[in-house]
Amino acid sequence: MERKGTLTLFDIDGTLVRGARCHYQAFVQAVDKYYQIREDISGINYAGKTDPQILREVLELGGIGENAIQKDFQACLKYMVGYYLEHVHRENIMVLTGVEELLVQLQKEDVLLGLTTGNLKPIAYAKLGRVGLDNYFSFGGFGSDSEDRPGLVKKALERARDLHHYQGDRIFVIGDTPRDVAAAKPFQLYTVAVATGSYSSQELSGCGADYVLEDLKDVDQVLEIINP
Ligand SMILES: [Mg+2]
Repeated sequence: MERKGTLTLFDIDGTLVRGARCHYQAFVQAVDKYYQIREDISGINYAGKTDPQILREVLELGGIGENAIQKDFQACLKYMVGYYLEHVHRENIMVLTGVEELLVQLQKEDVLLGLTTGNLKPIAYAKLGRVGLDNYFSFGGFGSDSEDRPGLVKKALERARDLHHYQGDRIFVIGDTPRDVAAAKPFQLYTVAVATGSYSSQELSGCGADYVLEDLKDVDQVLEIINP
């Protein structure tokens, strides 16, 4: 049966949750193991980038050539996932204020919920599982689908159609970086930028988002935007 209504696609880091030290460690361990890079990678601005995109940037910064990058790239990503799943129990993740209440309410109102995150898929679900949010999301677009963010948004939209027979046109992407907003633009989606990640609302206001919010605390206000 065809499904219409509203579809909302959420980013994870800085949008739903905060704090993912173990995810960062997974990069550090993986590039050390496969490429013997032990440089400080904390200077990279990885907000809104996909895991494979970040990995590539780290390797390029470390002077690794394209052929060498390609050779172990998939194995390195796989290792990251393994490392993350093994250590996620130590991960100190905080659900951002208002998020759980918002998800409960959206679900009640029959809004279709999906993810658009640069996280590799198993990392995304393990991270959300750590704080009990994984069951809200039956599908999404992930860093495993595409190295560039618009590619994973495209994938999320395809899955909404294929898995949920979604045929509506009221689609929101909610994220914490200008990259989240830019990735939604080619598909003419509504965008909500939220300043709970590494960008302030002033910084986000110039990025072309339809709405800029300080946070998702005021659930009624968010619902007024997404599903009035
Ligand atoms: Mg984010």
